[in-house]
Amino acid sequence: MHKPRFLDHLAMELGDRDAFTVAFARGRRAFQPEHVEPKWARDRAANIKHIKLEVGLDFDAKKISGTATHRLSAIAGPLDRLEFDAAELEIRAVRAGGEPATFETADGKLRVALPRALGTGEEIEIAIDYAGQPRRGLYFVGPDQAYPNKPLQAWTQGEDEDSRYWFPCYDYPNNRTTSEIIATVPEKFTAVSNGALVGTFSDGAAKTRTFHWRHDVPHSAYLITLAAGEFAMIEERAGIVPVTYYVAPGREDDARRAFGNTPKMIQFFERIIGVPYPYAKYAQVAVNDFIFGGMENTSATTQTADTLHDARAHLDFKSDPLVAHELAHQWWGDLLTCRDWAHAWLNEGFATYFEALWCEENLGADEFAWNVRQDREGYLDEDANHYRRPIVCNRYRTPIELFDRHLYEKGSLVLHMLRRVAGDDLFFKSLNLYCTRHRGANVITQDLQRAFEDTTGRNLDFFFDQWVYKEGHPEIEVSSSFDEKKKLFSVTVKQTHKTGDTIAPAFRFPVTIALMDAEGREIRQRVEIKEREQIFNFVLDKAPKAVRFDPEHDILKTLKHKRGREALETELRHATEAIGRAAAARELGTEGSRQAAEALRDAMLTDKFWGVQADAAAALGTIRTSAALDALLEALKLPHPKARRAVVRALGNFRGDAKAGSALADIAATGDESYFVEAEAVLALGKTRDERAFAHLSEALGRDSYLEVIRTHAIAGMAELRDERAIDVARGFSAYGRPPRARVAAVGTLARFAALRDDRRAEILDFMTPLADDREFMVRMRIPSAFAEIGDPRALPALRRLADRDLDGRVQRHANDAIASIGEGRSHVEEGQRLREDLDKLRDDNKKLQERLEKVEALARDKPV
Ligand SMILES: [Zn+2]
Repeated sequence: MHKPRFLDHLAMELGDRDAFTVAFARGRRAFQPEHVEPKWARDRAANIKHIKLEVGLDFDAKKISGTATHRLSAIAGPLDRLEFDAAELEIRAVRAGGEPATFETADGKLRVALPRALGTGEEIEIAIDYAGQPRRGLYFVGPDQAYPNKPLQAWTQGEDEDSRYWFPCYDYPNNRTTSEIIATVPEKFTAVSNGALVGTFSDGAAKTRTFHWRHDVPHSAYLITLAAGEFAMIEERAGIVPVTYYVAPGREDDARRAFGNTPKMIQFFERIIGVPYPYAKYAQVAVNDFIFGGMENTSATTQTADTLHDARAHLDFKSDPLVAHELAHQWWGDLLTCRDWAHAWLNEGFATYFEALWCEENLGADEFAWNVRQDREGYLDEDANHYRRPIVCNRYRTPIELFDRHLYEKGSLVLHMLRRVAGDDLFFKSLNLYCTRHRGANVITQDLQRAFEDTTGRNLDFFFDQWVYKEGHPEIEVSSSFDEKKKLFSVTVKQTHKTGDTIAPAFRFPVTIALMDAEGREIRQRVEIKEREQIFNFVLDKAPKAVRFDPEHDILKTLKHKRGREALETELRHATEAIGRAAAARELGTEGSRQAAEALRDAMLTDKFWGVQADAAAALGTIRTSAALDALLEALKLPHPKARRAVVRALGNFRGDAKAGSALADIAATGDESYFVEAEAVLALGKTRDERAFAHLSEALGRDSYLEVIRTHAIAGMAELRDERAIDVARGFSAYGRPPRARVAAVGTLARFAALRDDRRAEILDFMTPLADDREFMVRMRIPSAFAEIGDPRALPALRRLADRDLDGRVQRHANDAIASIGEGRSHVEEGQRLREDLDKLRDDNKKLQERLEKVEALARDKPV
């Protein structure tokens, strides 16, 4: 499943980057309340070998009906009763071995009494006639009065345990079965499912068409899929593998743009895993209103139609991470499946790391390191502001709670560090052994460790213990000194994190220390860190200009390493890795001197990697001197849209500055080649609170763009502007029938005003409360953090309703977080507001000091010494 990054990414694109990070950002709390008991993998009575679904979809009634036939054998006889998961399904009849069988349904289970007991290994076929009008698992989407152009579609989402809502089954990953779907849909529709298409036939009288799909490689029930709608099909090949994309008619070009790298990715993954793509075909179906970014249903991935984009969006938006993620799951998740959710990082950590590996292959080392940095920051944010847990963890209320940044991002980083421990060659050999040894089977983390140990000959207990079974990461402090007499340069590395039962007292990892001279020449030494404090000595003629600890940023850690401005400037100019130059740029931003600003200006205008340009721009945005402003204005011409976007964002920090306001107003008025730069300019203009802003933002509300990015930034910009007229604008855009993403942004803007304005709070809250019951998933998903931001106990009943009754586990989790957050009583917004104001004041003081310093320096230059 592709969840956090894609949704966060979208939230970011929408100018709503605070949505998930700020509202709950009140420090680390426990992952789970004390009373939550461990959950262990389920016991199995039967081995289900084949599932055949013969189903019809009724789009008018939003119903499914048909027969689910299971071929199974008893694991340990005698077996006289069988239990299936069947949530909210009407069971009409059950036949066992062809004879009618008695059954009962209760608590989401179907219990079947077998006519006679099965002996160990004995096989039987159980056919279940059923019908349902699912609220989960199977989703019918289509036009209504408010959204008349939405295509009519149905799609399923099994993970984690929702297949039971659309067919009776054993709904847990630790059973693997072949599957077959014979699906009847309206005659113009295509039904896509797992495996090979056996055939189709039409019924002219009934105006229906039936698709027969069959999948011969055993997989888990949550991976069984059905997606139906009016689709155009695009066919490609990756070697012998047929590759297909299904999209709404008219979106063919967008589909090629979004999915076009799929064949290359298949061949790349085949090569590095050393295991050919294992299924009859690889299809991607783009559907509307999908509740995740993508879902790796075996050989037939479902993707959100939101990832389809036009040429203008393609300038700075790519679907590759999403596509690579779901494709990687075809091996990691589908061919090998975590035995239980506690080990789900074996699915998600892998898929996330393979996004990065594709990025490395396709775009090179710097983009790869950038990708890894995003993973690291995502995890560190969750760790610092939400909770800390071991990656392998069986204390949860619902499995979806585990699908977080520990599972995805930290999981990915752990694989990256494992690669650095093993080396590239042995890393991929180990993955190959793990894959070939366990293909077609369920896996736990110990299987992965064993494969690496068998390949490398090393004992990796320490590695898995510190990174996977224990929690946290090292907090590192680095300092250095030079002994002129002995010509000895010493680098001291300390691990300063608080120790306890749940975290390794000292992490053990290999790392590089690089010593750089003024010209950028380096000595690099690979060392092993394994103690709380270690000193590394180097015999040198003179002290190096810069010391770089972990120059490739491979290790998951926080780092305190005080370096002077000159060291940072040297790194910014000379470091081979863009990731290192960017880190230097960020740190120089906190230094704030005129020289720092000059070095940042140089980097922003001339560095060859956009990320360094972007970080330099952001740093100048925090320095906020007039020199910094001039540099940023100059950088508006940067060709890379992502760099330009950072420049525009930085200009938003110059509140009340007419020059910054004018530049942003120009972009807001005339537009930019990139949707995202244009959108960012609109938001930044709001932040400057320029007097022209409201007019420009209002005008931008009328502009269509990819994923509503301009409109949503305009709505978010109005919250920044603090112009009361925005309340009515946001109310208008929050209505059902307006573009869904604009509605989400409107919720954010309303929350901001409710939080800031005591006099309007009750009224806005009353208005927002019904949105907690909205039909749109995205809106309900945004409500908890919005209410947390408002921090008003009057929001609690609506939040409790969401926590108890919402059908989506993520909404429940957010609602519980929001309840806890409001319960703590501090208004997070007031506090945030106060901090922001303090920060602004400090920045202003800094700006004045810098300007005085510049004047004094200029005067001093003219005087004789
Ligand atoms: Zn995934």
